[in-house]
Amino acid sequence: MESVFIVVGLLVIFFLVIQKRYLKQEELKDSIYKKKGPLLSMQESAFFNALVSAVGQHGVVLAKVSMANVISPLETEKKRWFIANNRIAKSYFDFVVCDPRTLEVRVVIEFDNGKPLDKGKIERQKLLMHVCKSASIPLIGTSIKHSYQVSRLRRLLAAHIDLIEPDKEVRFCKRCGSPMVIKIASLGEHKGRRFFTCSRQPQCTYTENYNVVFAEEELTND
Ligand SMILES: [Zn+2]
Repeated sequence: MESVFIVVGLLVIFFLVIQKRYLKQEELKDSIYKKKGPLLSMQESAFFNALVSAVGQHGVVLAKVSMANVISPLETEKKRWFIANNRIAKSYFDFVVCDPRTLEVRVVIEFDNGKPLDKGKIERQKLLMHVCKSASIPLIGTSIKHSYQVSRLRRLLAAHIDLIEPDKEVRFCKRCGSPMVIKIASLGEHKGRRFFTCSRQPQCTYTENYNVVFAEEELTND
């Protein structure tokens, strides 16, 4: 009698397993998809193209990058980690500019589509500012009008990425007239960025911001 129960029990388990597997396949097969169309709206595409022109060969522009692919919570305690992770799980960065070689994110760019501020928009801005600040990633806010101002975009970007071809740029020291040389900062917030320094160092200590051209443009144009 006991063995009958065991056989029946085994059969029930067997059918349950088979049914579960079968149902699982059905579920996937029954889900039909359609293409959503362009990844970016027309406004976003126009801005994307302007950004690509502004960056040139000096960076790679990516759109709609999941935040969780760029940053992760700096938490060791499990519950707090999950809370922090949930905050960013469904959000994305509008645009990011990456190092062309390593694809490391250098700048985050938020595109304001010009719609009025509502609760969702304010929440998003708060989140963006907080995550970028805490992960030390520069955040640039831009608006629809920047789509028509590639040079202005370049000026905004120049504070964060190097936009000049090193071999095309010859500069002379403003203090002693000697040629200047390019060096790479090894310390501080500009670490890894290029800058010009007088070739007569240490006699002359004059240095210059690599992107000074754009900084000057800003002063004269605005
Ligand atoms: Zn000098």
